[in-house]
Amino acid sequence: MSSLGTMMEFPLTLDHLLVRAERMFPAVPVVSRLPDRSLHRTTYGAVTKRARALAEALTRAGLRKGDRVATLMWNHAAHLETYLGVPLAGGVVHTLNLRLAPEELAYIIQHAADRFLLVDEVLLPLWEKVRPRAGIEKVVVVSAAQGGEYEALLATATGRWTPPQLSEGDACGMCYTSGTTGMPKGVVYTHRSTMLHTLGATLADVLAVRHADVILPVVPMFHANAWGLPYAAVMIGAKLVFPGPALDAESVLDLMARERVTVAAGVPTVWLAVLEALDREPTRWSFVPGLRMIVGGSAAPESMLRGYDRHGMTVVHAWGMTEMSPLGSVSHLGPDADTLDEAARYAQRARQGRPSPLVEIRAMNESGEVPWDDHTMGELQVRGPWVTARYHENEEAKDRWTADGWFRTGDVVTLDSTGSIKLADRTKDLVKSGGEWISSVDLENALMGHPAVKEAAVVAVPHPRWGERPLATVVLRQGRTVTAAELQEWLRPKFAKFWIPEAIVFAETIPRTSAGKFRKSELRERYAGWTWPGPTSSS
Ligand code: AMP
Repeated sequence: MSSLGTMMEFPLTLDHLLVRAERMFPAVPVVSRLPDRSLHRTTYGAVTKRARALAEALTRAGLRKGDRVATLMWNHAAHLETYLGVPLAGGVVHTLNLRLAPEELAYIIQHAADRFLLVDEVLLPLWEKVRPRAGIEKVVVVSAAQGGEYEALLATATGRWTPPQLSEGDACGMCYTSGTTGMPKGVVYTHRSTMLHTLGATLADVLAVRHADVILPVVPMFHANAWGLPYAAVMIGAKLVFPGPALDAESVLDLMARERVTVAAGVPTVWLAVLEALDREPTRWSFVPGLRMIVGGSAAPESMLRGYDRHGMTVVHAWGMTEMSPLGSVSHLGPDADTLDEAARYAQRARQGRPSPLVEIRAMNESGEVPWDDHTMGELQVRGPWVTARYHENEEAKDRWTADGWFRTGDVVTLDSTGSIKLADRTKDLVKSGGEWISSVDLENALMGHPAVKEAAVVAVPHPRWGERPLATVVLRQGRTVTAAELQEWLRPKFAKFWIPEAIVFAETIPRTSAGKFRKSELRERYAGWTWPGPTSSS
């Protein structure tokens, strides 16, 4: 008797998404804000047709299977065409982070061996600085106006072309991590990993997106595939709204209101600014009831969850990494929600949450796997079909994988008995004071809970007696004032005495990484020579 089942061999390849959208959702709109702030309207019918034309045109221009096609683009419909068209031709979409320095971009382009590049016309000034060092064979400029090189490229397609046979193990996309140490590291996604991630992303206990949704990815399409939302939207036929380069709070709010957005996604810094604008003018915009904001990339403070609830909007907190395609976990309330009081419900929603199906987790410390007791900290390790097994052509970073095949996230966490993750810090951001760990994330979240505080970042600063002490950098909300002593009083009931930062520095801004996260390495450098006053009271 055969041990095999009777099921079809059906490779998990992305052309399936394209075919589905062109057959079932041709009339669904795709709206993009252009650099001149006008709105460009198209449909899945047109986008999929143009994606096919792009696949054929690139093939005629010499694209071979496995070739890298780089994109230097904002979020808009043409970028979506590359997401669908390049993999259809057997190519690999390599999304470039347009906030990186020209030298970094040149390094990444060379390291990935990109052959083609599609670049937004408005980004040409950046590209001109990269071009001499990049060595790209063919560059195509994408213009917002009619005509231009991209349209000319699409016009070379005849429509009489059959896409190549794809295998699910073929590469389809590529992204470099925005790490703050060492050279950027490349992750290469496969058709299979992206398809499974797309299915996972749509689950009700993951991002819960569906056909009737209107999805606004504020998170850039160069940041881990905009968290998989463009592919998810195409698969389920949800209307897509792209913000283009206009990422300021008012532009985002205008777009959310005007296009009847039901799900928007981005990093906390974006949503903090949006919340401040909403608090200032609570009645200026009107939104679809129950609008959800998917927040990830760094920790969403509990005060942000509460803040949006006041406007009838719901924050959904997600954790992930470029190396994980990127979705790892999402926090949702369970069937016991009714038995929890308000504080417990917020505390649960502010966690990083339970891993998606197919993502396995464990946390390790020097003694081995830590218990799921919600108390013992350990480094989070993960494995699953959309977690990368290595970096692209990089020998140095091999130690990110354990001997038994788990990926070391570099995040320090506690796990509760149900496997819900609570992130304490990046390994390198933990503050070790007098031999005890202090979570900078917990302090930041508590500081951001103060009504006068807009943003807070806490870093470890060397201390002669305690080894390290936490130093908080705080940005105040417009028109608000508060003293360092008042903030310390605010923290005192929430933490052990030794957690309270003696030093609180007020600043206009907190430096950001290219992905919009707080750049704590810069703060650590800034305060490395900090002089602490006399003997401290932190004992
Ligand atoms: P990236 O690959 O640039 O998306 O960065 C991944 C890292 O961002 C993770 O390892 C975490 O340190 C951090 N991160 C992502 N999501 C969250 C979250 N919800 N809360 C806290 N940190 C997060």
